[in-house]
Amino acid sequence: MKAIVIDKTEDAQRVSLKEHEGFGAPGDGQVCVAVEYSTINYKDALAISGASPVVRSFPLIPGIDFAGTVTDSAHEKWQRGDRVLLNGWGVGEAHNGGLAQQACVSGDWLQSIPDAFDSRSAMAIGTAGYTASLCVDALVNHGLEPDSGPVLVTGASGGVGSLAIALLSAAGYTVTAVTGKTAEESYLRALGAREILDRAELGELGKPLQKERWSGVVDAVGGATLANACAQTSYRGAVAACGLAQSMKFPSTVMPFILRGVTLYGIDSVMAPMRVRELAWARLARDLDIRHLDAVISEISLAESIRKAGDVLSGAHRGRFLVDVN
Ligand code: NDP
Repeated sequence: MKAIVIDKTEDAQRVSLKEHEGFGAPGDGQVCVAVEYSTINYKDALAISGASPVVRSFPLIPGIDFAGTVTDSAHEKWQRGDRVLLNGWGVGEAHNGGLAQQACVSGDWLQSIPDAFDSRSAMAIGTAGYTASLCVDALVNHGLEPDSGPVLVTGASGGVGSLAIALLSAAGYTVTAVTGKTAEESYLRALGAREILDRAELGELGKPLQKERWSGVVDAVGGATLANACAQTSYRGAVAACGLAQSMKFPSTVMPFILRGVTLYGIDSVMAPMRVRELAWARLARDLDIRHLDAVISEISLAESIRKAGDVLSGAHRGRFLVDVN
């Protein structure tokens, strides 16, 4: 089978498309999957480029998500022919991942592809869309209603941001999108954003408490943007923080939390319990208009994924890279 393989020699990291011997029969509890689609998530781009120590064992096949068909199962839940997807669980970091034509993983980590999707649309959504859905679930469970006020989405033209806009708008929320790519205004409006803000407006750290503007926030970028978003969140509002595209720092004060009762939710997709994942995918199946996905994705081959990782890190791309591994 073909696979992207990351290897480390001395201090240098090497990434190449290789002919891989495959994994043979699955061990106890394992399931082998003929992968059809994977994606280049921000974390995959970090792994492929070596920009951050994402990979914890070498050699390793990257790819934190995939969708495909079970070919062989030693797990009671799954049979040959089942249509499955996987997000996270350390796959593509500590375990071989989805940027290959075959994957063999614990059956406990797999989910059925919802009926609303095929393997291509499931990965067009991918971990970014599933994470966006976790963020929206956090805000909705907090008690945010569509008439509570506008919801801010940062990193708007990226994978998480694009799908958060689509989901929030489908659920009736009024969305303001923050982007560094103001040329993408029509794309963001087509996804459902009502207002567009230039990233520069939130990029520099402002006062600890600012004018109350947002009932909720989905933040994919961290840094000063997240601190300003918290400082602009209305009384008893909520912020779902999932990313660090601007910075891993959080240069905030306690003021929004102790004077306005703002709640900051941390969103992790990797180790989220299965019930939480199922609810997030159920929201996607129910609310997402899959016609949006054509605008969100650029489809690439396995061979192209190495080069495209650089585009993801530079933040120059729009939406997501969907990888047809075959
Ligand atoms: P993308 O690269 O697709 O999108 C990130 C977006 O952030 C860019 O498109 C850009 O949008 C914006 N951005 C880039 N650089 C900067 C900057 N310097 N300052 C402000 N904004 C910037 O990534 P994803 O959407 O897939 O992921 C977003 C973040 O979420 C990443 O940090 C990723 O690691 C994290 N993530 C976390 C998960 C979790 O489990 N917590 C799961 C999945 C992702 P624009 O030009 O529109 O401003």
